Amino acid sequence: MKFNTKTIHGGQKHEEATGAVMPPIFLTSTYAQSSPGVHKGYEYSRGANPTRTALENAFAAIENGTHGFAFSSGLSAIDCVLRLLNPGDEVIAGDDLYGGTYRMFTRLFQQYGLKFLFVNMDEIENVTNAITSNTKLIWIETPTNPLMKIADIAAITKAVKATNNNILVAVDNTFATPYLQRPLDLGVDIVMHSATKYLGGHSDLVMGALMVKDENLAKDLHFIQFAAGAIAAPMDAFLALRGIKTLHLRMQRHCENGRVVAEYLVNHPKVGEVYYPGLKNHPNHDIAKKQMDDFGGMVSFRLKDESKEATFKFLESTKIFTLAESLGGVESLVNHPVTMTHASIPESKRLKIGITNSLIRLSVGVEDIDDLLADLEQALDR
Ligand SMILES: *Cc1c(COP(=O)(O)O)cnc(C)c1O
Repeated sequence: MKFNTKTIHGGQKHEEATGAVMPPIFLTSTYAQSSPGVHKGYEYSRGANPTRTALENAFAAIENGTHGFAFSSGLSAIDCVLRLLNPGDEVIAGDDLYGGTYRMFTRLFQQYGLKFLFVNMDEIENVTNAITSNTKLIWIETPTNPLMKIADIAAITKAVKATNNNILVAVDNTFATPYLQRPLDLGVDIVMHSATKYLGGHSDLVMGALMVKDENLAKDLHFIQFAAGAIAAPMDAFLALRGIKTLHLRMQRHCENGRVVAEYLVNHPKVGEVYYPGLKNHPNHDIAKKQMDDFGGMVSFRLKDESKEATFKFLESTKIFTLAESLGGVESLVNHPVTMTHASIPESKRLKIGITNSLIRLSVGVEDIDDLLADLEQALDR
């Protein structure tokens, strides 16, 4: 199956009892057994639930994996990956990560003896030079949130595996989605998503996903999911499955609108720097072109007037772009990383990588582009 067919049919079968095309929402915690230990594959819904199974099969299919796992949030999916590690193990991660990922690494897991190194993944040597005999996991986010930097997934993975084939490589594929890039095909071990964003696509749920193609890794992750218990609920699983069926259609429009918005901002006299991997002057444009099938709907920028007053005035003035955290839904959102999504990153660290008060992040939705441009125009004119 090709990708657009997979989003609709991947891993799906009609429900056996009635032929229902969509899986029922199995709102049940437990399942009848005919004799102790004799059941139809389901015992207790923390272990498995048929609606979640349907979604997890779809997760695996769209990322070209063999196993998918659905969690109660993107962060609980990351938490599951980190529980593969032991005290003393080292993780090398990008230096421009989603704020919550950084917070989990430094404030939850460091205290259990895991060590985290944050490097600029623009240069592959920054990753390979940081590898020690204790390195167990490489955590790549690309494009990064909110600066839209691009890491070369295939090149980093190849270099890491050449150094030590046992080091796991994981990619947070939330921003790109498998519509744009498929990390498992590039040699990566684990793909992670905040399904809250593009996979769900309608801002109506919080969910995380992991996808893998290695049987033993799948066994370990399933054990942690079952033993730690941060599972996605059946109703949410149904909504996410419904969302995935239009992922390709939504992403196509997100990319079209994202590109037009980025170009509009570049040409606006009041706008300073624009961060969008589809722009020719983006520092990682060539890698983005090689790695991604298009450039997505996330655009960050600064006003030329970098004062807090001017930035806040813009943020308070948009009407269609709603000022809110999150991204990847059908509706356009505008975000101020410093006070909102990235508030948990220490100021010195933020400033060092360029997440300053003047940075504005747009999640360009799938509305009519003329309305989106008119909204930006009136907000920039104030
Ligand atoms: C939102 C987000 C997360 C965290 O996911 P939640 O579903 O909010 O727990 C992780 N990574 C990226 C890139 C995100 O945007």
